[in-house]
Amino acid sequence: MHEYSITKNIIDICIEEAKKSEAKSIKEITLVIGELSPFSDESVLVYFNLLSEGSILENAALVIKKQPIELQCKVCGQKFHKQGNTFECINCNGPCIATGNSGNEFYIESMEIE
Ligand SMILES: [Zn+2]
Repeated sequence: MHEYSITKNIIDICIEEAKKSEAKSIKEITLVIGELSPFSDESVLVYFNLLSEGSILENAALVIKKQPIELQCKVCGQKFHKQGNTFECINCNGPCIATGNSGNEFYIESMEIE
């Protein structure tokens, strides 16, 4: 059910923004979801289609960008995108730390209106 409220939030923000810009309709929304985010993109899409019905967003396409987590090895310095559930270096199996993206991102990157 978390996806329901977060999707409702996104839709409210978009409607608010569209009103401010006096848009007739919203064509496309790009959403960034971090790889570690607990929100499933499938559920967000389902709720989006459900909640946007009859609103200014009705015909909007929802584009979901999965944000990969960037890791850097503390031993050899190798940088790579996290794969699977391990935080080990792909090069030397050393311990890694996340650099840049935390993987918990969830935000609207852009919105196309007309
Ligand atoms: Zn390494």
